[in-house]
Amino acid sequence: MRAALYYSNSDLRITQMPVPEIGKGELLLRVESCGICGSDVMEWYRENRVPLVLGHEISAIVAKAGEGVDGFSVGDRVSASHHVPCNECYYCKNGHHTVCDTLRTTNFYPGGFSEYVRLPKINVELGTYRLPDRLSYDCATFIEPLACVLRAQRVADIRPGQTILVIGSGIAGLLHIYLAKLKGAARVIALDICDFRLAKAKELGADISMYAGEYKPGNLGDVNSGRLADVVILCTQAQSAINTAFDSVERAGVVLFFAPSDKDTTVNLSVNKLFWRTERKLVSSYAASPTDHLEALRILEANQDVFEKMITHRIPLKGIGLGFKLVSEAKECLKVIIKPQK
Ligand SMILES: [Zn+2]
Ligand SMILES: [Zn+2]
Repeated sequence: MRAALYYSNSDLRITQMPVPEIGKGELLLRVESCGICGSDVMEWYRENRVPLVLGHEISAIVAKAGEGVDGFSVGDRVSASHHVPCNECYYCKNGHHTVCDTLRTTNFYPGGFSEYVRLPKINVELGTYRLPDRLSYDCATFIEPLACVLRAQRVADIRPGQTILVIGSGIAGLLHIYLAKLKGAARVIALDICDFRLAKAKELGADISMYAGEYKPGNLGDVNSGRLADVVILCTQAQSAINTAFDSVERAGVVLFFAPSDKDTTVNLSVNKLFWRTERKLVSSYAASPTDHLEALRILEANQDVFEKMITHRIPLKGIGLGFKLVSEAKECLKVIIKPQK
């Protein structure tokens, strides 16, 4: 089979690999679509482990089922999580499934940017979902990223009536904008430095979209009865955005660190200015749990047309270099989907 080996954001090589063998309880999946995630282009995070086959936002058809698999058979259309929690450890029992050691070490092989993947038994049992007939393979690649956004908004305790500032309107920012509106946010303000993305932010529900270079926290007061934002969501790794977030969050508000940052990012914060007598919170969220995946699946099924609008590129496996170029440059693209069978 063909697979794309990642060396760097500008060096991906199509290679031949044997189709993975499967054992008891495992599945062989034929990958139909795989989204490129913002974390796939985090070069510094990958550089010590290259070459490797990336790709975790997959939708697929069951090509082979190992002995003892029940619940799935050849021909089923599925979505599969690469990371699954054990549901039994201290963290899982306390609702923090995404910091579970099992979740951090599970994965499918070799990765979604290949024609086939082997799904280990634990992933089959705890992280594989049958797709509704009407949900396309391309839309189904949103299950994982949307699940991460759902979890993050729960951590940030987003509630109806709030004012939300989203810094960075790439695909993660757009998912946050859409979901915040779905949850009843009164006002969503989107920032970016790219006109194309600002226009998309409006299209997906942002009440106001502003060029980040001209934004000042005082702008929030003008549209929000004198108050700053109840929740600020960081969907960019630009270091300056962190201080913008601190300056834009209202008393008792929350700053959500969503996008992964650069390797050496540190923050300078004035404890007194940010916290004294203000009850502000800084929170982070990583990955998603099976409950989040199921909720994402329900939202996608009901709103497929909205997610279609977020897909800007569908690229055959051999063109994956272009896909990584687009996502790492972060300009006129949103969701970029690789089609491993093409
Ligand atoms: Zn991802
Ligand atoms: Zn666990």
